[in-house]
Amino acid sequence: MNQHHSKICKGCWQKLHFPVALRGPFSIPFRMVGLRPSRMNPNTCTFCELAFTRIMKARNVTIDATVLFADLRGYTSASQYLATDQMTSTLDAFYDECAEAIWEHDGLLNKTIGDAIMAVFNFPIQQDDHAMQALRAARQMQRRWGVRRTELAKGFDLDEGALCIGVGFASGSVSFGEFGQSHRDLTAIGTVVNTAARAQSVARAGQILVTKTVRDQCENDISDKGTKYDLKGLAAPIELYDAEEYDGPRRV
Ligand SMILES: [Zn+2]
Repeated sequence: MNQHHSKICKGCWQKLHFPVALRGPFSIPFRMVGLRPSRMNPNTCTFCELAFTRIMKARNVTIDATVLFADLRGYTSASQYLATDQMTSTLDAFYDECAEAIWEHDGLLNKTIGDAIMAVFNFPIQQDDHAMQALRAARQMQRRWGVRRTELAKGFDLDEGALCIGVGFASGSVSFGEFGQSHRDLTAIGTVVNTAARAQSVARAGQILVTKTVRDQCENDISDKGTKYDLKGLAAPIELYDAEEYDGPRRV
């Protein structure tokens, strides 16, 4: 899909120091045994995707991760002034820009849900700084979409502020694996996931909102001024931090 994509599986290399070729002539024997680039992260392989079920013999595992949601604000109402092919190309462009930003930071594009996406960082590629990687991905997503949206808007006659992205993410313990009996679905579940989804839902267009756990892990890059939010489904209000580019005081 893209020349920036890795030639060998980054996950297998990290865990096993074994080069699983994903692209080019060396990938042919691997493909013959069913190892191919994962659709959720083309720099990893289909084996890594389900490694925990095969190696750990568990359907799901508890891992420390960062879960990110992004959505295209006003997409549903845009159908009133955009043609069907414009709606489709907008959504394709949104998925592409999000995917590239996520994959560049070794995250997993876990789901595309209508006009929203969900990403997980720290699986299958392990990252000690997964919150920081998610932050970089979120900022890059906003920058990339800013450029792409301007290009699209030339042809579409978009309202100002229409079809901008809201992003929210949270870090902590999640249950990751296959859930469901009849329809098996690889995903993360837990409070961290719900909080990330709620943070995204209250983010303004163009904004990135993160939890305190994220802010604590990226303290030099995110302002310490939080705002209390009452999030649906959570018992008490929680503090969220605006994580757009930050030029505040930094520790030297
Ligand atoms: Zn792999």
